[in-house]
Amino acid sequence: FSTAPAAAAAPTEEPIQPAVEVKDTQLLINGNFVDAASGKTFPTLDPRTGEVIARVAEGDSEDIDRAVAAARRAFDEGPWPRMTAYERCRVLLRFADLVERHAEEIAALETWDNGKTLAQSAGAEVPMVARCMRYYAGWADKIHGLVVPTDGALHAQVLHEPVGVAGQIIPWNFPLLMFAWKVGPALACGNAVVLKTAEQTPLSALYVARLLHEAGLPDGVLNVVSGFGPTAGAALCSHMGVDKLAFTGSTGTGQIVLELAARSNLKPVTLELGGKSPFIVMDDADVDQAVDLAHQAVFFNQGQCCCAGSRTFVHERVYDEFVEKSKARAMKRVVGDPFRNGVEQGPQIDGEQFNKILRYVRSGVDSGATLVAGGDRVGNRGFYIQPTVFADAKDDMKIAKDEIFGPVQTILKFSGVEEVVRRANATHYGLAAGVFTRSLDAANTLSRALRAGSVWINCYDVFDATIPFGGYKMSGIGREKGIYALRNYLQTKAVVTPLKNPAWL
Ligand code: NAD
Repeated sequence: FSTAPAAAAAPTEEPIQPAVEVKDTQLLINGNFVDAASGKTFPTLDPRTGEVIARVAEGDSEDIDRAVAAARRAFDEGPWPRMTAYERCRVLLRFADLVERHAEEIAALETWDNGKTLAQSAGAEVPMVARCMRYYAGWADKIHGLVVPTDGALHAQVLHEPVGVAGQIIPWNFPLLMFAWKVGPALACGNAVVLKTAEQTPLSALYVARLLHEAGLPDGVLNVVSGFGPTAGAALCSHMGVDKLAFTGSTGTGQIVLELAARSNLKPVTLELGGKSPFIVMDDADVDQAVDLAHQAVFFNQGQCCCAGSRTFVHERVYDEFVEKSKARAMKRVVGDPFRNGVEQGPQIDGEQFNKILRYVRSGVDSGATLVAGGDRVGNRGFYIQPTVFADAKDDMKIAKDEIFGPVQTILKFSGVEEVVRRANATHYGLAAGVFTRSLDAANTLSRALRAGSVWINCYDVFDATIPFGGYKMSGIGREKGIYALRNYLQTKAVVTPLKNPAWL
């Protein structure tokens, strides 16, 4: 890891050379790294400069066909669903050990391809991947069915069997973590997987998929196809050989995915989609602490977080102080090369997101919100944006309604609990919410009244492997993580046998 001091950080400086070599750029199909059938490749870019890191095989529907055929064989005929659950558990445990052994390279690759800070990749996300895999490894030999009582003389069993071939589509904001949240439970339950990575961040999944094979995963059980959404992604969603789909990304794409699944073979779909999550600061809050937590809630991961606390609701009694201190905190935020120590914010993922965020900033100004900090790009290359804070925002402004997916905080004033509940819930999204208060009453009332899949009280972005995550309303269908994710990858079979006088005797 680089140890250059943050004080020298400026995106205009020469970028630090990552301590990792890009080795895997082909598709992983049936245990082999292969070119796309078309021979096509696409570039993956360094968000610090916009320069090409590597060219990666561009999978398309023909490659999805090959990957699904391999997964089908692995599931229908291969050893993975047939071996003991304890053996599957041990493969996943060995994989977690390998992730830790190669943590430095994996973290560097993730930061290079995505732009998130190395401190975050190395300090939080790679350890969370290992933890998630160990958590699901632990479940592998604890999944069991039931014997249920009946009205007749019947022996009725309920079996929990793997679904079969799972198609999984992941986004670019947490490439490794999304790999773990999806692949972990699917493999623990004995399924085979075809995973499509996001076109912006194909590298880390290929790296760790190689490690999974080193850990003993049989060929064909995990296939990784890099490629674009409307081609490779859509082919996976429509494929008749896929038994289940799991998707994380935008709400609009989630709707397409659901439709493609319905029009092909009605495969069940779980969706983790967007959000516009409220972070509510009550009037009894310690303002300094609230400012810091609200800041982390929105700026974490360059603001590219589906559960970003991007609507900061602040009680009128502490509003002015809160806005002043939020401005100071945002202006202090260290933006720079994500490989540098002490940097808090790297570049946005790509030029498209960068331009979209700056358009939202303009719309905030045009609609009459007060721009109190930031609002512009940083430096003159790469995709760095100033930490931006708007105050005096109104609920009907675009910056208060749309998912910006960038480092933009929108502060709104409120005066009572009922009012803030109504306004916080007045959105089609329902992914997460934050509450900052010393009052147990307020915490209890708000946590029950807010329509969101996660409510964080006096904390934010807590992602333990054991805690379910997912959305209400248009933020998704189903839950990932914890025991809840297992349901996504299991079928339920009833087996009934007469206990006496069976018909054939
Ligand atoms: P996206 O939803 O288009 O992409 C997510 C994944 O879906 C990628 O792997 C992509 O290749 C795939 N995909 C795209 N079109 C597809 C299709 N027609 N069929 C099947 N798969 C398809 O997200 P994006 O364009 O990368 O980002 C756009 C917006 O999505 C962001 O601004 C943000 O609001 C949101 N987003 C949300 C999350 C999240 O975690 N909820 C993650 C990334 C992006």
